[in-house]
Amino acid sequence: MNALAATSRNFKQAAKLLGLDSKLEKSLLIPFREIKVECTIPKDDGTLASYVGFRVQHDNARGPMKGGIRYHHEVDPDEVNALAQLMTWKTAVANIPYGGAKGGIGCSPGELSISELERLTRVFTQKIHDLIGIHTDVPAPDMGTNSQTMAWILDEYSKFHGYSPAVVTGKPVDLGGSLGRDAATGRGVLFATEALLAEHGKGIAGQRFVIQGFGNVGSWAAQLISEAGGKVIAISDVTGAVKNSNGLDIAKLMKHSSENRGIKGFDGGDAIDPRSLLTEECDVLIPAALGGILSKKGVLILPDILANSGGVTVSYFEWNIQGFMWDEEKVNNELKTYMTRGFRDVKEMCRSHNCDLRMGAFTLGVNRVARATVLRGWEA
Ligand code: GLU
Repeated sequence: MNALAATSRNFKQAAKLLGLDSKLEKSLLIPFREIKVECTIPKDDGTLASYVGFRVQHDNARGPMKGGIRYHHEVDPDEVNALAQLMTWKTAVANIPYGGAKGGIGCSPGELSISELERLTRVFTQKIHDLIGIHTDVPAPDMGTNSQTMAWILDEYSKFHGYSPAVVTGKPVDLGGSLGRDAATGRGVLFATEALLAEHGKGIAGQRFVIQGFGNVGSWAAQLISEAGGKVIAISDVTGAVKNSNGLDIAKLMKHSSENRGIKGFDGGDAIDPRSLLTEECDVLIPAALGGILSKKGVLILPDILANSGGVTVSYFEWNIQGFMWDEEKVNNELKTYMTRGFRDVKEMCRSHNCDLRMGAFTLGVNRVARATVLRGWEA
């Protein structure tokens, strides 16, 4: 099943549990707007290269649409659509006043030079600048993009609309970005995991973790979990996988990974087959790589729309307090409050609708969006 079919199936199940009217259900599922643009740039060697860029704006009932822009060779319309829809439910679960959107360009960012990436980002921004904006749609980093990408979007957008730092979040701190934004998704994973473990009378310390993915989310999650006393016993990325039953030294692994563009060859553990990672014995498994559905009988699954909502939550802090700056401790404390409250609200839905955590998250998100939609009405 592709990502869109899986996401829509979860949505429909939630709509059924909530007893939503079928016309409302249909209107919530269909995206607000789907944008597809051609982006041609001169490469450094003078030849031309064309890429396809997407922005899917799914829903704006609760506020401006919000979501990342990813640069990845597998970006396709169905995936961007699914991710945009997930952002709608995610911002609602986090209870921040946003809708959902997602964008992407089908490219291999690792094979482009910095100036080629800059040209590509500027051309993409030129094609979509009229359709995004502070009160309509606010992009942020995602897989293959970062604060520098946001700085280029900010600059290009500002040429058309005047200086507009709040048109993106996840900006460099020097341009009004938030302290702690880079670590926020990984830190959110830590807080959500803590909330789940606390329910079972456990803490992070002493638990064995396996983490799939060592990019922005996986590497921060690994670092913060090990700082909190958790034992990260196996990690994989696109280059390979490594295991150490006594716990991996995450600081050393980060150094190795940045020097060697991946974890392959790390000597602080045994190399294992990345395909066996998901079945490694552990207490907590954190999938922090490309999407995909995980389900196994008897295993408690923390829903991704809750677990990875830390990034967009700190994006909201950045956007909302534009011009001011919270210190990092305040950002992290507020993030903890939002993640803990999100978990508590999901549990409440599990109780009232007699469902698992995944459906608890979906019913929570869908219900909040449905209520906002009905309140705003449809009169032309
Ligand atoms: N790309 C992140 C996500 O998918 C952050 C989105 C945002 O901050 O708008 O949740």
